[in-house]
Amino acid sequence: MSKLLYPSAFEELIASFRTLPGIGSKSAERMAYQILEMDEEAVSRFASSLLKVKNEIKHCQICGLMSDTDTCNICNSNIRDESLVCVVQSSKDVFALEKSEGYNGLYHVLNGVISTVNGKSVDELNLDSLVERVNEGKIKEVILATNPTVEGEVTALYISELLKDKEVIVTRLAYGLPVGAHLDYADELTLNRALQGRRKISNK
Ligand SMILES: [Zn+2]
Repeated sequence: MSKLLYPSAFEELIASFRTLPGIGSKSAERMAYQILEMDEEAVSRFASSLLKVKNEIKHCQICGLMSDTDTCNICNSNIRDESLVCVVQSSKDVFALEKSEGYNGLYHVLNGVISTVNGKSVDELNLDSLVERVNEGKIKEVILATNPTVEGEVTALYISELLKDKEVIVTRLAYGLPVGAHLDYADELTLNRALQGRRKISNK
């Protein structure tokens, strides 16, 4: 008896869903069935929203945060503390920190961390522009808020070395966060505490 296979288009859709984080084969199948049941207009809206995200969202030219304009709302704001810059791994960390409402400085989004596992090298991170921003002289403190994972720590250490001779104080978040945790999973209170208790890692 030959095994019944899904039509190839359906199989392809399942495979696409499976590339998303946290989606296993059962969930991917359920999602594909759901798409099959949707009317054409709804599917078309869904598909175009995927493309729109890819085509319209870019990185802020100053800080690297995702934005649909050349420079983001935070960099454009005139009520933020320009002497503080918080360095994070990804845009989602900025949104998590903004929700905590305990921070009013600027950000710098690396869009990655140094990793030997998936081969991200230093050159691929948004680092040159951080050094440029520091060189401009307005920034007094750089808060390193990469995740408390091995890669996050290695990256924080690398940046603190990079800024060693610059006229800035470099601090690291005081993680009441569990080791290995991710910033965007932390609750607002924990994030606020981490910010308040940040410790100095440069000797200025
Ligand atoms: Zn920006």
